[in-house]
Amino acid sequence: MTDLYDRHKAVLPDWLALYYRRPIEITHGEGRHVWDAEGRKYLDFFGGILTTMTAHALPEVTKAVAEQAGRIIHSSTLYLNRPMVDLAERVAALSGIPDARVFFTTSGTEANDAALLLATAHRRSNQILAMRNSYHGRSFTAVGITGNASWSPTSLSPLQTLYVHGGVRSRGPYAALSDAEFTAACVADLRDMLGQGRGGVAALIAEPIQGVGGFTSPPDGLYAAFKEVLDEHGILWISDEVQTGWGRTGEHFWGWQAHAASGPPDILTFAKGIGNGMSIGGVVARAEVMNGLDANSISTFGGSPVTMAAGLANLTYLLEHDLQGNARRVGGLLIERLRAVCAQAPAVREVRGRGLMIGVELVDPGTGGPDPRAAAAVLEAARERGLLLGKGGGHDTSVLRVAPPLSLTVAEAEEGASILEEALRSA
Ligand code: PMP
Repeated sequence: MTDLYDRHKAVLPDWLALYYRRPIEITHGEGRHVWDAEGRKYLDFFGGILTTMTAHALPEVTKAVAEQAGRIIHSSTLYLNRPMVDLAERVAALSGIPDARVFFTTSGTEANDAALLLATAHRRSNQILAMRNSYHGRSFTAVGITGNASWSPTSLSPLQTLYVHGGVRSRGPYAALSDAEFTAACVADLRDMLGQGRGGVAALIAEPIQGVGGFTSPPDGLYAAFKEVLDEHGILWISDEVQTGWGRTGEHFWGWQAHAASGPPDILTFAKGIGNGMSIGGVVARAEVMNGLDANSISTFGGSPVTMAAGLANLTYLLEHDLQGNARRVGGLLIERLRAVCAQAPAVREVRGRGLMIGVELVDPGTGGPDPRAAAAVLEAARERGLLLGKGGGHDTSVLRVAPPLSLTVAEAEEGASILEEALRSA
């Protein structure tokens, strides 16, 4: 491992951040577990940043990938591609968007780039509304709408972005408000911003639950209330479902459904879990919006047959085994168990989340402020005890992120909660 780390440092960029003081080399996985090069087994509560949606080394996905790779891996976007059409039909039907068209990309970043291209072309404007504390990727365009400076390597942008309140309310003047008061305040803020004579904003982009920002949910219905205002101005709503899609939140298949009164978004972006680790992203929009782009394609690789075969097998497994229901049931138990564990831990401010998207926010018990050092220490202590977690929470990264594969069992949920309890005690 040390040798590999030295070689990594010598040839890869310094900013390619690795977790852990002694970085882990993962060699293989099975179910909800992965193994490192030293033969240590870990319970995986982060699923490769939510990319392993169903399970590691799921035989159905492995078989589909191997069979497709044996036929043809990629031919080009110039020819008909059966797995791509098959998956597009399934995604279009699931999206809730009428007359939906689907465009596949290779990542969530590229999906958001494509969504912004669509919205700016449709509205002939480069003005975008985005949420404070948001994360949408790190390409030049995605960085320009990401609302947290620590995730933005540059402040230059081809877009003019206006940041809206609503994603987080645990701090600042909004902290004490009820759901209804908070929603009303955010809508007033949005109206105020749009009322300042700014014509032609193209779109609002938002994560239904902020992922990298620390698994923070706005009140249900916030985006329905926003949509009423957006509709008055013809502004499109882009729902970034890269983390919240495919049933991860348990209650809903898409995060936007927590705001269902507004109906579906105009544009939906997805990625991560659908490929179960294979690089798939994509955009869904109604035909009128999708077909407004004057382009032959956006890149050579989106919709590559091997990734599409993986997506189809993975989606079939997810639906046939009702993993959304599993996320609701096991996630519900895990949230309860973590709340019980954390009730005894003075460093934990809050356990929050939905389904298998759970945040544990750490604070300095003395000041009540965010405690990124404690979060890093618990992350290390959990790793030493065989549990992989994520970190997040904006500039202070003081939130532990729990997002295991959606096939998590009750026994594994119990085991992970117990390890976290020990890690909190020891850190
Ligand atoms: N949007 C959201 C909400 C994300 O969480 C991420 C990745 N963490 C992205 C977009 C970018 O996706 P990718 O890393 O696949 O480019």
